[in-house]
Amino acid sequence: MNANKNEATALRGESRLVGCSSDEEPGAETMIFSQNEIPTQSVSNRSTDFRKRFFPLTTIDSWNDWKWQLRNSITTIDELKKIMKLSEKEIMAINNLKGRLPLRVTPFFASLIYNTGFSHPLRRNVIPVVEELLHTASEQADPLHEKSFSPVKGIVHRYPDRVLFTVTRVCSNYCRYCTRSHSVGRLDRPGKQDFEKAFSYIAAHREIRDVLISGGDPLTLTDEALDYILFHIRQIEHVEIIRIGTRVPVVLPQRITDKLLSVLRKYHPLFISLHFSHPAEITPECIKACTMLADNGFPLGSQTVLLKGINDNITVMKELMHKLLKIRVRPYYLYQCDLIPGSGHFRTTVRKGIEIIKGLRGFTSGYAVPTYVVDAPGGGGKIPLLPDYVLEHNSEKIVLRNYKGVLCEYPEK
Ligand code: SF4
Repeated sequence: MNANKNEATALRGESRLVGCSSDEEPGAETMIFSQNEIPTQSVSNRSTDFRKRFFPLTTIDSWNDWKWQLRNSITTIDELKKIMKLSEKEIMAINNLKGRLPLRVTPFFASLIYNTGFSHPLRRNVIPVVEELLHTASEQADPLHEKSFSPVKGIVHRYPDRVLFTVTRVCSNYCRYCTRSHSVGRLDRPGKQDFEKAFSYIAAHREIRDVLISGGDPLTLTDEALDYILFHIRQIEHVEIIRIGTRVPVVLPQRITDKLLSVLRKYHPLFISLHFSHPAEITPECIKACTMLADNGFPLGSQTVLLKGINDNITVMKELMHKLLKIRVRPYYLYQCDLIPGSGHFRTTVRKGIEIIKGLRGFTSGYAVPTYVVDAPGGGGKIPLLPDYVLEHNSEKIVLRNYKGVLCEYPEK
């Protein structure tokens, strides 16, 4: 059973979306906020306008309530049509979603895309297009073979000293290029017994010093559920650090509340791995959420998937990395898009990724340069890729090329 049906049921009875913009031509602009906009308010003018237009009975307090945002997420084509004009490609794709990654967009994220053009980078993140239906021979439902590295439900133990722990299959938005599109969006959540088996596995494997809690998106769970999970992991002495992988500060920034922070603070050292794909995602609301996390001592890192037509050029990527550093988020990984079914329209060549790294390294702060990796199909793990900086290497010397193309030698003796 997928999230659409259940959550749509939960939504009925809410007085919600009104109005219809479907006769309007979408705008073509891609930038939503200027680079230097500073969050002086908890709701941007753009979101306020959207709320008044499409949720006129909703108070600002409800809008800022993350549970209201989840309850009122847009999950059907009829709801989506009320707020934006859809292309034929989008309509065809949404009408053929059955059994595939569901559609889900929070009202907040909808406020960022409702009057954008069909190729707008944020819109392409969440609104399916018909190319998703085209599958190629090299694509696989589980391209990283996570199932074969899973000793107990929810745990993926691929690397020697760390595990991935998937604690939910639900996200507040579904990204159309998601590596786990084969499993997220389903509501068969792990039960208490599954959690206990996962805790026991981690406790029994003394080599595990790092646990990455992911999903789905863990921050769609309640504070109580997160407290339960984090408490049990922190009881295991050999676990040194815990990480939470989340896109919530981008798509549901209202989730970062004082109460959540008071839960998370109990479990330091706790790292937060965020996921950004475009500079326009760094909204006033997102800046506020990241500021709250950073002020509470959580080291913030960002992962970005290289996506054709969204962020596959040096200018956009550099702007994203610079904006992340300004909000204390350290760029961590740039991923080559995984070979999931229907991802051909998102994938670039690996050459493009190397070209982008070449355009960053040396031309901007080292902190602004993520590690570009291919997550090896078949489960081989992350493999870093660099431009060709080493021209020759023998027992005498190494010959290197710097970012300007200038050659230099370093002796090996
Ligand atoms: S938030 Fe993460 S897990 Fe959820 S759909 Fe997006 S990429 Fe996948």
